Amino acid sequence: MTIQRPKGTQDLLPGTIEQWQYLEDTIRSVCREYGYEEIRTPMFEATELFQRGVGQTTDIVKKEMYTFLDKGNRSMTLRPELTASVCRAYVENKLYGQPQPVKLYYIGPMFRYERPQSGRFRQFHQFGVEVLGADQAIVDAEVISLVWNLYRRLGLVGLEVHVNSVGCPTCRASHREQLQEFLAVRKAELCNDCQERFERNPLRILDCKNPSCQAVTAGAPTTKDTLCADCSTHFARVLDILGRAGVVYRVNPRLVRGLDYYTKTAFEVMVEEIGAQSAICGGGRYDKLVEEIGGPPTAGIGFAMGIERVLAALQVQDKLPKKEPKLFAMLIALGEKAQTEGFALLNALRSQGLPAGMDLLGRSLKNQLKSADRQGARYALILGEEELARNVLVIKDLSLGEQREVPLTDAVEEINKNYQRGV
Ligand code: ATP
Ligand code: MG
Repeated sequence: MTIQRPKGTQDLLPGTIEQWQYLEDTIRSVCREYGYEEIRTPMFEATELFQRGVGQTTDIVKKEMYTFLDKGNRSMTLRPELTASVCRAYVENKLYGQPQPVKLYYIGPMFRYERPQSGRFRQFHQFGVEVLGADQAIVDAEVISLVWNLYRRLGLVGLEVHVNSVGCPTCRASHREQLQEFLAVRKAELCNDCQERFERNPLRILDCKNPSCQAVTAGAPTTKDTLCADCSTHFARVLDILGRAGVVYRVNPRLVRGLDYYTKTAFEVMVEEIGAQSAICGGGRYDKLVEEIGGPPTAGIGFAMGIERVLAALQVQDKLPKKEPKLFAMLIALGEKAQTEGFALLNALRSQGLPAGMDLLGRSLKNQLKSADRQGARYALILGEEELARNVLVIKDLSLGEQREVPLTDAVEEINKNYQRGV
């Protein structure tokens, strides 16, 4: 049997990879404009990092991690997300000693053992940002506006930005109590997962996708009812700044993140058109997380965006850039001597940054011209025995069908002139 790629993974081939590069380039430009710098951390980390940093009660840690023992018998895990890794790197590299806040972004693969389906993979890719060392509301607004402006730049429409505040451990305790009281009488109607959540993590029940759980929680008390004065002021300020900056959002009091180190702002971005997996971005504040993994008390906020899902949205909305021609010029060399001379000419063109190719298989003139056309070359540079003998090169404009001869010594300059002028 032939070997196939693992379930839930993809080969990204030429033809598709250009779309990824376009999205990544746009992300990098927006991050530069906002003053975020890139961080790259390992693909795998000590399992304990994710157990502590993502949380023992989460689906990710309970069911979705690729965990293995290395040859030294250490438990390692392929990264399922990057917030924990970035916080670890912040502590380990003493980034708290640098001017605060530290504003970082990342793009790369994540690994989760999930049931593969449309918009859900086992190796998928995220773009994310993390801001460490600032707890001000304006930071929350900056992070949300960054992703908003990225989507605007990409031309996406019909996005829903949901925002909420989950409070702090203090005000969440009273919400938790009220919620448990409300749910207690109908506990039996909850799904198995939610029954388990009832004790450990009742907030997450509000987030359950199961229709029967949603029915039970329909009128449940939300975090909004119990926010303390500090959290409430913070939330109002975030919304105020967002509104003034033109970000269109909706307050969704059911949007939650269940763990104790999540604080205050939580948000999510949805695009309905891409199907059931409509969340393209999720994020929030995590003022207790850095301490949780052993660092100094440090406020933090960030988000992670699914690259595959954003590409799917761009596809549905027909917002992907049109394919660009691969080559500007194609050398058509006939005979070994012409090939050798032509190769040197190509070198000179390429070293000036001009995309140029040649036939490598010794095809006929006709087939070489066809191939030049297929690759979208603007010019064919024809060099046969006869041209070589006269020290000239034929430059054929493939879109106009015109051709002219230039002395070989001027060829590079001539072609480059056209390239620079874009004709
Ligand atoms: P979901 O509810 O879809 O499982 P999540 O809450 O697990 O999402 P996060 O951990 O917040 O997602 O990750 C942020 C983003 O990463 C998601 O909004 C989504 O766009 C993307 N994402 C998460 N899991 C996958 C996956 N298995 N395949 C593709 N994209 C994913
Ligand atoms: Mg998930």
